[in-house]
Amino acid sequence: MENCIFCKILNKEIPSKFVYEDDYCFAINDINPKAKKHILVIPKKHIESLAQADDMELIKKLFEAIKKINIQENISDFKTLINTGKQAGQEVMHLHIHILAD
Ligand code: AMP
Ligand code: ZN
Repeated sequence: MENCIFCKILNKEIPSKFVYEDDYCFAINDINPKAKKHILVIPKKHIESLAQADDMELIKKLFEAIKKINIQENISDFKTLINTGKQAGQEVMHLHIHILAD
């Protein structure tokens, strides 16, 4: 999707280090971390938000990725967060799950 920061990162139009990648999603460190470890898990498919997501298999894949990322990053205790809609604080209109660990 044009003008979407996460699509641009996926397409390497904006440089960013992937901490994880599989067929369905990728993960990057949040540019403005709100915890010691703050990772964003992002589906490769552009879906505006959880409200627009109808493929629950994909949502499952994202949570499977979270488990793999947490093993890789040595995270055992963590919070997950999905902001849905501008009024709820969603700034980037491409679905993503925050992993926050201190
Ligand atoms: P949200 O408010 O849930 O939409 O979260 C968007 C998150 O994306 C924020 O925590 C931002 O700090 C983060 N973010 C924005 N641009 C970038 C970027 N280029 N690389 C990494 N994280 C970013
Ligand atoms: Zn996008």
